[in-house]
Amino acid sequence: MRLLDLYSASLFLLGAASAYGYPSNSCEDLALVLPNRTFFPAASTYNASIQSYPFLQLRLRPSCIVRPTSAEDVANAINILRVSNSTKFAIKGGGHNANVGFNNIDDGVTIDMQSMNKVEVARGDQVVRVGAGALWQDVYDEAEKRDLTVLGGRIGVVGTAGFLTGGGISFFSPERGWACDGIVNFEVVLASGKIVNANATSHADLFAALKGGQLNFGIVSRFDLASFPAGPIYGGRIVFGPNATTPLLSAFTKFKLGEYDPYAAGWVTVRYNHTAATFTPVSIMWYTRPAQRPGPLKAIFETKPQVVNGMVEAPISEHTRNASRQVAANPQRTIWATTSFAVSPTIINRIHTLWKQIVPEIAAQYAYAKPVAEITFQALPAPPRNGASANSLGFGPGETPEKDLVFLQIIFTFEDAAATDGFEEALKDLVKLVEGLTKEEGVFHRYKYLNFAASFQDPLGSYGGVELGRIREVARKYDPTGVFQTQVPGGFKLF
Ligand SMILES: Cc1cc2nc3c(=O)[nH]c(=O)nc-3n(C[C@H](O)[C@H](O)[C@H](O)COP(=O)(O)OP(=O)(O)OC[C@H]3O[C@@H](n4cnc5c(N)ncnc54)[C@H](O)[C@@H]3O)c2cc1C
Repeated sequence: MRLLDLYSASLFLLGAASAYGYPSNSCEDLALVLPNRTFFPAASTYNASIQSYPFLQLRLRPSCIVRPTSAEDVANAINILRVSNSTKFAIKGGGHNANVGFNNIDDGVTIDMQSMNKVEVARGDQVVRVGAGALWQDVYDEAEKRDLTVLGGRIGVVGTAGFLTGGGISFFSPERGWACDGIVNFEVVLASGKIVNANATSHADLFAALKGGQLNFGIVSRFDLASFPAGPIYGGRIVFGPNATTPLLSAFTKFKLGEYDPYAAGWVTVRYNHTAATFTPVSIMWYTRPAQRPGPLKAIFETKPQVVNGMVEAPISEHTRNASRQVAANPQRTIWATTSFAVSPTIINRIHTLWKQIVPEIAAQYAYAKPVAEITFQALPAPPRNGASANSLGFGPGETPEKDLVFLQIIFTFEDAAATDGFEEALKDLVKLVEGLTKEEGVFHRYKYLNFAASFQDPLGSYGGVELGRIREVARKYDPTGVFQTQVPGGFKLF
């Protein structure tokens, strides 16, 4: 009854606005239909939403922010925004995608999902139901109360929604694949305002498309995740002395070229701090079978000299909480890009050598912005196999990206907005140079992992023409008027 009243009220208001020949002001309409969920710039809740973006460049100023508490609220908001036709809007999950405009908007409307953060374990089937505004820490804390865990993020403060709809690399990905392949059901609000469930037997095309196609089909209101028994895992961060860079990268190369171990996960990073003029190698790796540790990570774990060794055997929730502490302090501006390549005995060291030559020069031009540059190498998960439901990430069941490929993240972090354009151009140049190197060595791979791709890259295109065609069709079927293509300017688009 209540929903019907709200919906009728919205249609009446919108009808009245257009009858008088002026476009409706969506924020006022939203405030009437969702009175305790719509916030304007003077409200403390509005400012809390803006402050919750972890990177400064994401703190845009929408005309109003809607914080739905249910799928019906999301549907009411979409109905108003769709009918307005001209109001631009953005959707925020955990707000951790670094691209400006992907999860927030100046002047338009931002739907901030953070109040939809309920996590519950469904009795009987042990499926973990995750509201699309939940952060990974919420999920692990709740699931572990039942000794369960899921395929999720490795840093607790990161959001579930962007992570899962972009793919998602978890502690258990070497063994169990992409986190999105652990989803058994999406509850989705379509552009029409209809709420549907997408799973292996209902809207199976949408089910596959949402696993990698992100914000092109609807707003996910809930994820139902398959769970498995939780146990402690061994790992964490090691900060090495600068002389350890070459041995660390060689150890990572050997690990990737050696026999595949489904229990070894994580990444290695080299960080350059221009102000301090230091290069710091770091590994953040885990062995998910602690009794058999360190497995093939031995050479990495024993690389010397070590400055800080944070390796512990602990529950997942403790690893993700520790990792959050390392990233939460002192928000900055950051830009990222990615590229992938087949691992070879030489390529990782060659990329590092190239990067090390170039970044001090780039950073020197913007020294006032106190830049920090990073490169990170990590493995990709396996595609679904043996009849498991498809995702849209573009790898066939016969391919073995988990063994063959490594992806690179290239990052600049800095304090001053004036340096943004300069670093963005430098990032484009660095991607070109690295890809020149990988092409020259014959190890370039087209795949760009969406969750780390820059807005100037084309991760959806990198899934390949057949997959792209398939998800375009799904978008046209579920959003025939293209609301998510035209009224939502942020995110990677299909047409
Ligand atoms: C510190 C840090 C650690 C990370 N660790 C990992 C890691 O371990 N593994 C990994 O794979 N990735 C990792 N990432 C990358 C991460 O997957 C992306 O940043 C991802 O976008 C985070 O999800 P979010 O909900 O916070 O994103 P948001 O920025 O909120 O959203 C990203 C995109 O998804 C859309 N979106 C948000 N909510 C919805 C919804 N309900 N329905 C439809 N579309 C929606 C947004 O509009 C936006 O376009 C990490 C990132 C950071 C900053």
